[in-house]
Amino acid sequence: MSGALYLDANATEPLRPVARAAALAAMELGGNPSSVHAAGRAARRVLEEAREALAARFGGRAQDVVFTSGGTEANALALRGIGAGRRLLVGATEHPAVLAAAPGAGVLPVLADGTLDLAALEAALAEGGPALVALMAANNETGVLHPLAAAAELCRRHGALLHVDAVQAAGRVAVAVGWDSLAVSGHKLGGPCGAGALLLRPGLEVAPLIAGGGQERGRRGGTEPLPAIAGMAAALAEATPAAAAGLAGLRDAIEAGAAGATVASAGAARLPNTTCLVLPGVAAETQVIALDIAGIRVSAGAACSSGKVARSPVLQAMGFGEDAGSGIRVSLPWNAPADSAERFLAAWAAMRDRLSRRAA
Ligand code: PLP
Repeated sequence: MSGALYLDANATEPLRPVARAAALAAMELGGNPSSVHAAGRAARRVLEEAREALAARFGGRAQDVVFTSGGTEANALALRGIGAGRRLLVGATEHPAVLAAAPGAGVLPVLADGTLDLAALEAALAEGGPALVALMAANNETGVLHPLAAAAELCRRHGALLHVDAVQAAGRVAVAVGWDSLAVSGHKLGGPCGAGALLLRPGLEVAPLIAGGGQERGRRGGTEPLPAIAGMAAALAEATPAAAAGLAGLRDAIEAGAAGATVASAGAARLPNTTCLVLPGVAAETQVIALDIAGIRVSAGAACSSGKVARSPVLQAMGFGEDAGSGIRVSLPWNAPADSAERFLAAWAAMRDRLSRRAA
């Protein structure tokens, strides 16, 4: 990444040195945590310490932390393993990892600022039948925070379970309690790819997606990827809401300087590191490519794999219409350089002037 400015933390955070060191140490350690001999017991200790670290941070008991391969699997495990036999209700702006695991689910609308429409949730819950509600704590494109405490209270009152996808929120903001299950992902915290976790409320059981050798108390078969898990736990120690709050100044400077752009969810509570800038009339993919050539790494709200300009379903759900295809996500990493805002804005303004003229 020499000379380039990486502003795509919500895709994956740069690996933290402490996470790298912990992963390497676990790799050196060797041993299978399920083995009864000394090497296995040493690996088991690392695994259990990681479990305790996650439980301590997010609430719940260490024994109710189920390690997975990442956020996608943790979400799928919750929706399929807890949700079976329940009515599934998902937020309109959920990540594809949730939507794909909940085919036919009822969709809960969001307000224009991207936050959950609590009245719609209440109405859907009142329709009856035991439900599982899946909501993201923070949106990956806009950074918007759902009113989770209020949603949890509604779920409790209506006897529904609440699954929280905390993949983007974990380590960046405090995650409200009141969930029945919670998904996190190691590489979004600054750990290596390959590990995530589903935390369960004590007493809640989950049917495994993958059966096997009885690992993870029978909830997820397969030898645990110890280096990735140790790296995730080490990253978590540094990924604190207090540290992430320090990024808000850079985020605000970017928003203040991006004249001509609309900031999605500007008025709502959001992650401190994320902004979604909508530049009407200019396709998001075109913006991303122009910025990439200028050495700035950001994402389009919606990936475009078909060659056509895709509209972000998140921005569409918020009522952006045609402009839903013109939003880019800027997400500051934990190690964002102090001059990130000015470097981004210099490249962004040049891109805006060139591409807006062409679009006009
Ligand atoms: N949930 C949200 C909100 C995400 O942003 C992502 C990834 O971008 C995921 C789930 C999937 O996580 P993973 O990449 O660990 O599978």
